[in-house]
Amino acid sequence: MRSPILDYLDSIIATTEHVDSGSTADYIPELAAADPTRAAIALCTSNGTVYASGDADHEFSIQSMSKPFAYALAIEDHGLEYVLDRIGVEPSGDAFNELSLDPETGKPRNPMINAGAITTHSLINSEGEKTAVDRMLEYFGDLADRPIRVDEAVANSELATAHRNLGLAYLLHGSGALPADPTESVTGYIRQCAASVTVSDLALMAATLANGGVQPKTGKQLLCRRTNRHLLSVMASCGMYDAAGNWLTTVGIPAKSGVAGGIIGVLPGQIGVAVFSPRLDAHGNSARGVAMMELLSEDMGLHLMEATRPSRSSLRETQLVSLVDGTEATIYVLQGDLVLSSIESLVQEIVTHPPRTDLVVFDMSRVDEVMPVAERTSSETAAKLIEEGYRIIVVDPEGTVENFADSHGRTIERWTPEQLSDAVR
Ligand code: GLU
Repeated sequence: MRSPILDYLDSIIATTEHVDSGSTADYIPELAAADPTRAAIALCTSNGTVYASGDADHEFSIQSMSKPFAYALAIEDHGLEYVLDRIGVEPSGDAFNELSLDPETGKPRNPMINAGAITTHSLINSEGEKTAVDRMLEYFGDLADRPIRVDEAVANSELATAHRNLGLAYLLHGSGALPADPTESVTGYIRQCAASVTVSDLALMAATLANGGVQPKTGKQLLCRRTNRHLLSVMASCGMYDAAGNWLTTVGIPAKSGVAGGIIGVLPGQIGVAVFSPRLDAHGNSARGVAMMELLSEDMGLHLMEATRPSRSSLRETQLVSLVDGTEATIYVLQGDLVLSSIESLVQEIVTHPPRTDLVVFDMSRVDEVMPVAERTSSETAAKLIEEGYRIIVVDPEGTVENFADSHGRTIERWTPEQLSDAVR
């Protein structure tokens, strides 16, 4: 049976067929010559399943969709503070190839416009024989889980007409914002932009960002969680150039476009998506690609600002039991993800109806994940209970809170689920 998800992606390609506005990027001859009727879409879930439709095997150059990944590599090489000292994170409101420098700091406004991206490229370390471009390609390969190469025809075509980017780089160099050699930085940046990918590759790359930096197929952690969150924030505010505000209100997901006609989008915790169609609108974003993303977001309810159902209470039930040795115990059976809103009901229950037994058991067998805020709140609650003379036991077979201690650092006793059922029997 053909997956209904594939049927749905086919329908997006069909529904947007009439969108023929805009034109291919004219300042790079090889892109100007692209077949404007091509269209493709792919989505990848956080378990690594890729669904693709349309011209899904067609390769095109990654262009500016390389920028977030280059930024990630620069951060992994030097640390966030070092990179933030050199490139800002403010939306510029300018076109992608403007010399947008912050008037106060003299830094490029953000890493998604060319001024910031050329500086970003110059920050990527070479390693022995490996140039920054080699490292970028290796990184793309890890993200897409297949070897990624430079399309030499696209790279040469852009290099031959790179006057504006060279101009930007020399101005950046002159103002002290680009310490590296301007020509070398632009050459490397253009080769990074000419990496050849399909929508399926891009969906996997985007899904890695959706997955907190873990490549969903290989399980490799390719970005640390903090860099990943930072990157998604910059994509949300600056990824669609001077259409960023409009994009965030309509489609509502962190995204990045490229002048070859691709757009990637990331729905944190859920999916990575990629679309392709070469004709660009006035902002340099794929016109049909934007239409495909708008449809997808609307139909699938992907908008990040959609207020979802409040998390259900983490307190499933409270049991008062007699143990085999005659002692009485209160068992709080917890469930789901422990976040502030879900754990609040447990804390409230303990505060308003303090346990009536000395022994208090937290059964976390049904808990999926414990967010730092919930762990902190639990440690503080545990400390207060211990101070009031209670004995606390945690049953946590999945290790959701390893080495759980109260807020004074006292380790909390742990039981296995078998110990709990033996004690209650
Ligand atoms: N290589 C392109 C340039 O620098 C990338 C621009 C884009 O994709 O938006 O002009």
